[in-house]
Amino acid sequence: MSNLVLTETFLAVQGEGMFTGTPSFFLRTAGCSVKCPACDTIYSWAKERPEGLASGQYVRVPSEDIVIRIVESALKYVVVTGGEPAEQADEMLDVLSHEALRGRYFTIETSGNVEFDPVPYTLLSISPKMTGMMRRDLPLDRYDHLRGMIDSSFKAGRLVQLKYVVKDERDYFEAKDLTLRVVPEQWRSRIHIVFQPNNDAYRDGISQGENLANYCQNLKALSSMFIQDQCAGGTWDRFPHTRLMVQQHWLSHGME
Ligand code: SF4
Repeated sequence: MSNLVLTETFLAVQGEGMFTGTPSFFLRTAGCSVKCPACDTIYSWAKERPEGLASGQYVRVPSEDIVIRIVESALKYVVVTGGEPAEQADEMLDVLSHEALRGRYFTIETSGNVEFDPVPYTLLSISPKMTGMMRRDLPLDRYDHLRGMIDSSFKAGRLVQLKYVVKDERDYFEAKDLTLRVVPEQWRSRIHIVFQPNNDAYRDGISQGENLANYCQNLKALSSMFIQDQCAGGTWDRFPHTRLMVQQHWLSHGME
């Protein structure tokens, strides 16, 4: 029996992507070597509990105990997020392949920067960071790696989504370019592409009201650029499941 190092587990309504609105059991793994400069969950980077974090968090939990928690929640959707869950792939496999969890829908959320062997998930949700949001010294060949990950997931019969948080036109077109480079031709009609406006919830010195107003402005700007780009035809004709969405969880919890 293995131990998964977790930052926390919690119950919430999935707030983003193709399973938006589903009541879900979340497992937030601890540890992330990717260390994006704009990370909104820095507390999940370490694998040991940083000073000041509540004592119920940051624990090594036997996989059997995690399975029991999920079963007791009675929820059908399970989301493994991080941190970077791909850094604990073997431990994750022990949980997700457990007999007691048959019939559940598993989402693995990953930055796409860490290689990992396939685990029995339903949806692979990849969130590539835009240039301004990621470190420049990451070792992997980003494009080859992502292309391989998407291809093998579809071949294994999984769902795949690419989820982008964009703050401006430059990010949007970078995401578009990245999509074209990493999604093999035969999977373009099947992959889900999700754009979400950036929010400044973790920026110092910004009030909630200001942040919400900025968010609405970002959404408005992105909506108009998105519709114009769609009407112009081209790229997204080949990607029919491309949508602009808000991060619902941020609107319901981030503004508390
Ligand atoms: Fe943060 Fe995710 Fe980037 Fe890791 S991959 S640093 S958890 S945003």
